[in-house]
Amino acid sequence: SRKDPHEVEFHQAVHEVVESLAPYLMAHPQYMKEKILERMTEPERVIQFRVPWMDDRGNIHVNRGFRVEMNSAIGPYKGGLRFHPSVNLSILKFLAFEQTFKNSLTDLPMGAGKGGSDFDPKGKTDAEVMRFCQSFMTELSRHIGPYTDVPAGDIGVGGREIGFLFGQYKRLRNEFTGTLTGKGVEWGGSLIRPEATGYGNVYFAREMLKTQGKDFNGLTVSISGSGNVAQFSAEKVIELGGKVITFSDSSGYIYDPAGIDSEKLEYIMDLKNNRRGRIKEYAEKYGVKYVPNARPWAEKCDVALPSATENEIDENDARMLIENGCFCVAEGANMPSTTEAIHLYLKHKILYAPGKASNAGGVAVSGLEMTQNSMRLKWTREEVDQKLLQIMQNIHHTCVKYGKQKDGFVNYEVGANIGGFLKVANSMMAQGLV
Ligand code: NDP
Repeated sequence: SRKDPHEVEFHQAVHEVVESLAPYLMAHPQYMKEKILERMTEPERVIQFRVPWMDDRGNIHVNRGFRVEMNSAIGPYKGGLRFHPSVNLSILKFLAFEQTFKNSLTDLPMGAGKGGSDFDPKGKTDAEVMRFCQSFMTELSRHIGPYTDVPAGDIGVGGREIGFLFGQYKRLRNEFTGTLTGKGVEWGGSLIRPEATGYGNVYFAREMLKTQGKDFNGLTVSISGSGNVAQFSAEKVIELGGKVITFSDSSGYIYDPAGIDSEKLEYIMDLKNNRRGRIKEYAEKYGVKYVPNARPWAEKCDVALPSATENEIDENDARMLIENGCFCVAEGANMPSTTEAIHLYLKHKILYAPGKASNAGGVAVSGLEMTQNSMRLKWTREEVDQKLLQIMQNIHHTCVKYGKQKDGFVNYEVGANIGGFLKVANSMMAQGLV
């Protein structure tokens, strides 16, 4: 942390990895000698650029655009774009660093990157979002390509934004390639990509539950967020017989003790995806509790699936969850648990999956979208879902392989970090000092 001491999120992510990798690195000094971890924490390239755009009333705005090209040892840079006012280099470096391990864990040939802008899509018209996306892509297009860097979506970048970004990229390059993933199914997108992160997280959690002879049937599940990851996590939990009791957004959370069933979930999807409304409206419609400016972790649950954003479970939240009987936390979001929260999970030996393992389904299906684009054909829903399930089971297997402790407890954090590290580290060493 001598370098860039203000990059707190990035240091948090690196610290978490270093702490859990340390014993392995001590036992395998070749990685230390080659300074692999030090090289992995330095992005191969960081691009920062001006994004000027005009709103509907003719006012001019200037946002900041970024792309962190983190690691290309095992494939082209790959990772999402985030549009949110909080976006800065520290957040994008933390996300790109996590992406290195995550992409490696999928076993698909993808390097790591992340990018985005401090632009806030909330309250903007479709026309404003389009003009912003076109301006953003006008610069980004110089730096990406199907063999170089393949961005996707993240917070604030969904199907609508990917459409505008892809349209502008295609126009500038005069090429139809798979340079962005998360595309619409009618123009090169993969089936199951919208569902992939949420479904994948639930598939992973199901594997963890299996190790204790349990399944989702009858379990109470608390979910945070109400965006892409939250919605499809809920869909899969409901399908598997679990009861989803919470949803949230940046204004507060709703608690529905009767359970959010498929019909209520459909209402949330329409509210969030088409009407771009607030989760509070759910509480008004169904007459349930709404708690403003709070996160849902005080509600009693068996399983927690944090699916909103980083650091949304602090030590206090983790304590409440555990005291209320929660025995499984699978991260749909990236780094939703603080370092102190993770220490508590591990101390109490609950089932805990770090996002780099459990939310890898999204990038995995993005990888499958790249494959389909290269082959110029499209797989069925069932084929993609089956491959996603297989990948999540393989990641679980890798975590158990490297994370099983002497007493039988599986430390998924250690397992994911070692499992993700090895392939990238070995590839970097094979490719020389680059
Ligand atoms: P969306 O933009 O679709 O949804 C984000 C949700 O989280 C919204 O409900 C949003 O509320 C809430 N949220 C965002 N920022 C904050 C904040 N600072 N405080 C409280 N609530 C917040 O994003 P995704 O569902 O795609 O992403 C959610 C998480 O999952 C992120 O951590 C992302 O990095 C991670 N992820 C996503 C993948 C994907 O495929 N999409 C893949 C792997 C990880 P509001 O509407 O009020 O902003």
